[in-house]
Amino acid sequence: MSATGLRTVPFNRPHVTENELDYMAEAVRSGRTSGDGPFTRRAAALLGELTGASNVLLTTSCTHALDMSAILLDLRPGDEVIVPSFTFVSTANAYALHGAVPVFVDCRPDTLNIDERLIEAAVTDRTRAIVVVHYAGVGCAMEAIGEVAERYGLVLIEDNAHGLGGHYQGRPLGSFGSMATQSFHETKNVHCGEGGALLVNDPALMARAEIIREKGTDRSRYFRGQVDKYRWVDIGSSYLPSDILAAQLTSQLESFSTLQEQRHAVWRAYHEGLADWAAGNGVSQPMVPDACAHPAHLYYLLFPDVANRQAFIGHLAAHRVQALFHYQPLHSAPAGRRYGREAPGGCPVTEQVADRLVRLPLFADLGETDVAHVIDAVSSYEVG
Ligand SMILES: *Cc1c(COP(=O)(O)O)cnc(C)c1O
Repeated sequence: MSATGLRTVPFNRPHVTENELDYMAEAVRSGRTSGDGPFTRRAAALLGELTGASNVLLTTSCTHALDMSAILLDLRPGDEVIVPSFTFVSTANAYALHGAVPVFVDCRPDTLNIDERLIEAAVTDRTRAIVVVHYAGVGCAMEAIGEVAERYGLVLIEDNAHGLGGHYQGRPLGSFGSMATQSFHETKNVHCGEGGALLVNDPALMARAEIIREKGTDRSRYFRGQVDKYRWVDIGSSYLPSDILAAQLTSQLESFSTLQEQRHAVWRAYHEGLADWAAGNGVSQPMVPDACAHPAHLYYLLFPDVANRQAFIGHLAAHRVQALFHYQPLHSAPAGRRYGREAPGGCPVTEQVADRLVRLPLFADLGETDVAHVIDAVSSYEVG
């Protein structure tokens, strides 16, 4: 029996930071539990420090922040939005929900990010925006992508759900797009169960973003004393999280550097401890370009084929380690086919990597003994 006993090492375990229960109790006792209370302001300020964003709007999820970005684009039927096929559904769903056609671009075989060399061929006269996802928090090729956006007058949006705390060429991820979105789902580096944020980097979008988030009203302006009553002025919805959730998030963000050190220790242990095994078995480890500093959001391995990937997941389960595959291609998903289309050349790389990828357990509280156990379990698999 190994040092971990008979317990399975879970894929993820949301950590509880030092002050979060106290902060949540404080929010409840204050009687001020609706949105935009004191903890919402504290969490937004901490997010601003991490990302460099001056306008941070906390939302109920990253999905809702993406919805807000779609409303801010003022999409008309037939408009197109360029998105990666290798991403979570919300990256495409938000724009389809608001009447646009998601146009799916393939990913790079090394970083699994949207392939910047394929974006220009996907642009048409209906294209309105490019949405990038920094997979595993490794930055996309932002100078090349920014250049295409500029040349065709497209809005650049970052779905930065993986990338909080990551940098590209020394600049925080989330600071490149006109807008960027964050997720605080329990599987992300910092979390409040369910939550998100919209970073509004283009100041011209901020007034309307505030209104959309407040059910289409100018209530934010009213609370600041800028208008004497609030009214229905635009479309919108209810995108404010309760201040109880913002209290949890505040504590998580205050612990960010400690959590990140712990995550990086796990990531490095995997990367170093599995290098020889990976090289000997034709398995690829994550590739991080020199321009990128990643936030250790996830650790993945790419197997030569789907049969080995499936056998490997079973092998780890037998050794009491929970490993998971990840995104299924959006371009070939039922709704992807119905609402979107593939960019010229299709998405062959996405199809391959989706079948070959496995993610290992990675969370802040994953102790050294468990990390060693995972490395042993992985290393005892032989690619057949
Ligand atoms: C987690 C995630 C989302 C969705 O986040 P929610 O907060 O659960 O809505 C969107 N995009 C990416 C890339 C994600 O990883």
